[in-house]
Amino acid sequence: MFGLIGHSTSFTDARKKAMDLGFNHIAEGDLDVWCSAPPQLVEHFEVVSAIGKKIEGAYIDSCFVPEMLGRFKTARRKVLNAMELAQKKGISITALGGFTSIIFENFNLLQNKQVRNTTLDWERFTTGNTHTAWVISRQLEINAPLLGIDLKKASVAVVGATGDIGSAVCRWLTERTYVKELLLVARQQQPLKDLQNNLQGGRILSLEEALPEADIVVWVASMPKNLQIDKSKLRNPCLMIDGGYPKNLDEKFSGSGIHVLKGGIVEFFEDIGWNMMEIAEMEKPQRQMFACFAEAMLLEFENCHTNFSWGRNNITLEKMDFIGEASLRHGFTTLGLNPNLQVSFA
Ligand code: NDP
Repeated sequence: MFGLIGHSTSFTDARKKAMDLGFNHIAEGDLDVWCSAPPQLVEHFEVVSAIGKKIEGAYIDSCFVPEMLGRFKTARRKVLNAMELAQKKGISITALGGFTSIIFENFNLLQNKQVRNTTLDWERFTTGNTHTAWVISRQLEINAPLLGIDLKKASVAVVGATGDIGSAVCRWLTERTYVKELLLVARQQQPLKDLQNNLQGGRILSLEEALPEADIVVWVASMPKNLQIDKSKLRNPCLMIDGGYPKNLDEKFSGSGIHVLKGGIVEFFEDIGWNMMEIAEMEKPQRQMFACFAEAMLLEFENCHTNFSWGRNNITLEKMDFIGEASLRHGFTTLGLNPNLQVSFA
């Protein structure tokens, strides 16, 4: 069985969801009540792949909400408790979705293997970042030409270039896509220089410097909500791939010539009988999902019960090839631009 650990996008949404599920005592509680609420295994489902492989899955709501991010101990406890529940339920491979993988890495939860009487087995968990990096790279390759952007002549800014997903996308774009130039954006300079050495290319720029030069911008950092960008300085056309979480770039960038694509999202070839993606505000919640969640499904389809994506900057092109081929074979496609927009740029 595969598992998905997720959370609601806000405290308000979480309360509504809890009410719908009949957990009224929790739904009515304030944030302090929610901080002590245990994770819940919300639903079980069956999925049959495009080549007829049948698997079972379960969704665990960690009862974490983004409003808890500032509460370090609570965030840590929420993630570890959800992982403990997944392991106790005998789930072979579980993806850490939304903020849970970021909390795991940034709060260094590797040091917290013992949760009460359970010793967490890391082999049972994956961040899903390899599939996410492959999906974002393919979204770029497929959609930029639809806007008339020639990849061989394109400058691509990667915002969050030194991150786990960002560095993998940079390697792919350098060694597989062969874009004209990579513009590397992050805050800390030394990791940027290390990445540049590793790639043997790319220019390190601030966000303000990179945006006016970029035909394509890949956002793989959780950016502050109040980020202000001067739209008049962007190229036309410009493809923005919003791979961060939460996905909030379309509010900032709507306008002629600027095309925002939800990054790291895949669509399964048929509906899945689950409700969990409704909380993630997917357009087609029965078949669209985060690529990191889909990675757990793919590993289960492939009987590959191992922490496929784990730690930072371990994603290789070979692993991206493996998960990408599995993704296509089992019936996933990457989310594309709105077809109506594509027609006007053809
Ligand atoms: P990492 O923590 O490994 O990397 C984050 C990167 O963003 C680093 O390069 C960091 O560098 C940079 N960064 C952070 N804040 C800023 C800022 N204000 N300005 C510029 N750069 C910044 O994260 P991951 O690679 O694991 O994840 C990246 C994003 O992708 C996250 O938002 C995550 O939620 C999302 N994601 C989406 C998935 C999906 O399925 N669609 C799945 C998994 C993750 P520095 O600190 O030096 O600035």
